Parts: sequence; C-alpha cells; structure tokens
Amino acid sequence: MVSRIGRLQKLLGRENLGGLVVSGLTNIRYLCGYTGSNGMMVVTRNRARFYTDFRYQEQMKKEVRGCTRQVLKRDLYHDFPVKDVRGIRRLGVESTNLTLHRFRLLRRRLKRVRLVPSNDLVLRLRRTKEPAEVALMKKAQQVTDRLFRRLLDLVKPGVTERDLALEIEIEFRRQAEPAFVPIVASGPNAAQPHARYSDRRLRPGDVITFDLGCRWHGYCSDMTRTVFLGKAPARLRAVYHHVLAAQERALATIRPGVAGKWVDAAAREYLDRVGLGKFFGHGLGHGVGLEVHELPNLSPNSKDILEPGDVVTVEPGVYLPGLGGVRIEDMVVVTKTGCANLTRSPKRLWEL
Ligand code: ZN
Ligand code: ZN
Repeated sequence: MVSRIGRLQKLLGRENLGGLVVSGLTNIRYLCGYTGSNGMMVVTRNRARFYTDFRYQEQMKKEVRGCTRQVLKRDLYHDFPVKDVRGIRRLGVESTNLTLHRFRLLRRRLKRVRLVPSNDLVLRLRRTKEPAEVALMKKAQQVTDRLFRRLLDLVKPGVTERDLALEIEIEFRRQAEPAFVPIVASGPNAAQPHARYSDRRLRPGDVITFDLGCRWHGYCSDMTRTVFLGKAPARLRAVYHHVLAAQERALATIRPGVAGKWVDAAAREYLDRVGLGKFFGHGLGHGVGLEVHELPNLSPNSKDILEPGDVVTVEPGVYLPGLGGVRIEDMVVVTKTGCANLTRSPKRLWEL
C-alpha cells in the first residue's frame, strides 16, 4: 500500500501539484485499503493522511495502512484540515468525485490555494495491475465461468429473462458479489447492447446474450456470452461467427506498445469488410479493475497505448434491430509479449 502512495507522490511532482485531495472511495481503497463509505485522503509530496467520521472509526483502525488516520467531527469537507496543505499553492482535487457542495466548502476553507482538477492521477496508477491484483481478477473470472456453466442448464423454453438474472445475482452473492446488474437479453431484446432484463419468456430459436461479472475482494470480472435456445437462425448464426472472428483478430493484436484504437480497428475493419460494421456502434473494450470501467480504452477515439499490466475487455457486438444481437466479451491481461486471456468460458456456438 505504501508504494502506491509513493507512486502518487511522485506523480504530484511531475504534475507540479503540492498535493491531492482524494475523494473517490475506490481511489481511497486503492491507496490505503479503506472500504467504508465515507472517507477522504489528503496526500502531499511528503505525507499522506486519511480522514473519516465516527461511524467508521473501528473500520479505519482495521483497514487503513500507510498513512496517518483521524476522525473528524463534522463533514469532512466542512472541517477540512487546512493545516495539512499549509504552504501549498496548487492542490489537486478529483472533480468527478467531488460534489459542487463539497467543492464550495473546500474553496471557503482554502481561499488562497488554487484547486486544480486532477481526475486521473489515481486512475493512472490503478490502470497498471500488480500480480496480486491480476490474481484476484482471475479468481473473479473463475467464479463467473463456473456460474455461466451452470446457467446454461437453466436456459429452457418458458424461463424468463428475470429468472435467469435473479439466478445470476443469487449465485454471485453466495460466493462473492455481483459487479453490476447482469444483462440477460433474449430474442429481439438482444439487439439492445445494454438491455435491461424483462419478463419475456424464452422461445425456441431465441438468441440470448448474457453479460455478467462479479467482484472478488474488490476486483471485478466482466464477460459476455451469446447462446441460442434450439437451432440458431441462419442470419444470426452467420453473425455469431463474424463477431467471434472479429474478436479473435482484435485479441491477436494485443501486446505492449499497440494503441487502443488499433485493437478496436482490428475488429471494426473486419466487421466492415463483411458488411456488419454499421451494426457495431460501441467501443471494442475497456479497462477493468476495482471498477468495471476504468483505463485504458479500446475505442476509435482512444489515445491509450497498451502496457504490461493493463487488464482490458475485448467485446465486439453486432446488433440487428428487430432480430437480435451477438456480443462476445473476454477479459485479458497484457503481458510483456502479448496477452493472457482470463476468461475460460467456451466460445463455440451453443445451441441449447
Ligand atoms: Zn460486460
Ligand atoms: Zn465490458
């Protein structure tokens, strides 16, 4: 944990900041281990301090490492410890994690300090996964793979999307916790990339998209598989093979030094060539870690260059309005020479 704070302090120097007020709870967790729901860190170039309120006193003692710890009486921003940032002229704040209300409280307390929006400092650190973090994500994915295998036995005519989504939630909660509300989209609903599950009953010939992931000791998995109930309709069967081919092409390009937008292009150009490009309307993938969506991005506008330790999803999808859709999503870790796929669920075309 100490080394993470140390890396942040180095970054502060490079960004010409005297310190950073860390407001995002996930960032706080990453830096000092705290998992409660109210907290704040003030990290300067040579010190790191953690603050919370009375309710989390015991949790703070148990979890917080690598910095000094203190309980404040009132709101953390109302009571902001001005002495911590004495002499600092430029102080970073995480504007995406700070409400306007708290920003105003800070400004009132720190009249002579310039508050500089510095959103991505901790995100940049979180991007590169340590081996222990990769191990937790691998475990999260193992739980997901096992659940998916069992889920296939439940795919039967008459079962509703809601039944399946509930099964996913229950099973994840038994072993870990869901990382997000699962997507179970059947038939024409599968044409919506982020469909919400409904009471629709499965019918023979349906395509069904499952997008699911869990959190293991904080770290997320994220996987999508598309299966068929009974025989796959010819059009969707063809789409399935093209989406899989696009994914395989993208996976084959992943290694350090490759731009995120080129990985995206590998899948996109293939789908363009087979006439399906216009039905692939989202980015190819995203980083995963303590949150389901983090750095880096694999999309046409991405400026990120892949590095060892990045964990990203590769999830091309083709969505045909009225008919259904196919998405296949794996999660991989970038290694020194390429990538290692953390997802084990088979990708052959399932006709259940
Ligand atoms: Zn997903
Ligand atoms: Zn995803």
